[in-house]
Amino acid sequence: MRSVNPALNRLLREYPDHSAEDVTAIIEKTWKAGLSWKETSFAFREGLFRNLAALLRADKDRLARLMTEEMGKIIRESLAEIEKCAMACDYYAENAESMLKDEMVSTDASRSFVAFQPLGVILAVMPWNFPFWQVFRFAAPSLMAGNVALLKHASNVPGCALAIEELFTKAGFPENVFSTLMIPSSMVEAVITNQRVQAVTLTGSGAAGGSVASAAAKHIKKAVLELGGSDAFIVLDDADLDNTVKAAVTGRMINQGQSCIAAKRFIVDETVVEEFTLRLLRAVSGLKTGDPMDPATDMGPMARPDLVEDVEKQVQKSLESGATLVYGGKRPQRPGCYYLPTILRNVRKGMAVYHEETFGPVFSIITVKSEEEAIAVANDSEFGLGGCVWTKDPERGEKIARKIETGAMFVNGITKSDPRLPFGGIKKSGYGRELATYGIREFVNIKTIWIG
Ligand code: NAP
Repeated sequence: MRSVNPALNRLLREYPDHSAEDVTAIIEKTWKAGLSWKETSFAFREGLFRNLAALLRADKDRLARLMTEEMGKIIRESLAEIEKCAMACDYYAENAESMLKDEMVSTDASRSFVAFQPLGVILAVMPWNFPFWQVFRFAAPSLMAGNVALLKHASNVPGCALAIEELFTKAGFPENVFSTLMIPSSMVEAVITNQRVQAVTLTGSGAAGGSVASAAAKHIKKAVLELGGSDAFIVLDDADLDNTVKAAVTGRMINQGQSCIAAKRFIVDETVVEEFTLRLLRAVSGLKTGDPMDPATDMGPMARPDLVEDVEKQVQKSLESGATLVYGGKRPQRPGCYYLPTILRNVRKGMAVYHEETFGPVFSIITVKSEEEAIAVANDSEFGLGGCVWTKDPERGEKIARKIETGAMFVNGITKSDPRLPFGGIKKSGYGRELATYGIREFVNIKTIWIG
């Protein structure tokens, strides 16, 4: 596996892959570790997750640098990501026991209840875009519930994958409760097929989700899929444009636009579209593109050359179909995987950026004539992950939020993940939920116990 710095297109390090035999041996060891791990108390697991949170915080500079070097995220976002992982560890350390306590149900039995028991070995296939957060938001609830984990991380972040495994060891977790598999995606199906593996969760593209879900289905195993999104950012005629434009920039530019819940389609009422576009242009043209290690940089490189090419093609095709270029639309004059923040106007049905997920720094502005049209356009997507609506009237916002077909809607706030709230999508954005009580209950046996 190769780790390449996308800011410089420079090879950082090569890591050896695991062979098929190594993988079988790791799965066996993980399964064995699970037999005793599931018998440990919540208090014991809590202690270890508290250690892990402390280690993340103590080592955050090194870990953040590693992330920035491997996939180009700007350093202040990397630091925030490590802090968020520590927060998730603390959150599940504190709450897992109460989330999974027996639920008494009154029936004709002398006592009947629902118990939540671990499933065993869970495989996590994870993406590179939030290389720490995606893993921790799966691992903290799953391990606190008494499961053990196998991580197959994205091939371009092997350094992060190994650093995470090392953190679990340093925090005092028993060996093989959390193991990293250094394998290409072609070996994932064999892992799912292994009889020791009980379930799989994947965060990534629809193509990867489809192949993981069909392998899981073939072997009757539970799967959770967190896939792509093309979130609507709806600007109503009464929106406060100061806040809205600031949020639009943050919501789209986070991680150089490479976030599943980034705002992607800006659906703007015709009465404010001129002013919105003007202010957006002012804000976006002031962003500083540069070295992601520099704390003053707003916009670093994208994670891989092929990701730049994908976005470039989507923008080009949309311009050819009649979209108007307001800003950007090209690579800056510097080496590395950079693409300028780009604003497109007059985006319409039929254009690539209207229908496809744009996984890069592209603002696609779609003008609408009414609230009803805004809702219709927002729902005219094969994805259903998140979205937000901007208005001075929170009740109006809530009414619209209820009508949008997604797993989450925010009123006067950008879509974000929060350990206290469930996260996941509908339609082609996947199924199942992560985070909150819903997330920790995805990988447990919801077991009825009836006592006569
Ligand atoms: P990707 O190619 O699907 O990769 C994600 C993971 O899946 C990687 O570990 C990858 O391994 C693996 N993988 C790829 N093809 C596979 C296959 N056929 N069978 C089994 N595993 C396979 O994803 P990406 O394009 O790099 O990441 C961006 C996508 O992820 C976007 O669509 C984004 O919206 C989505 N995403 C969703 C969420 C969410 O929570 N909903 C969060 C973040 C990202 P290799 O690297 O070895 O190929």
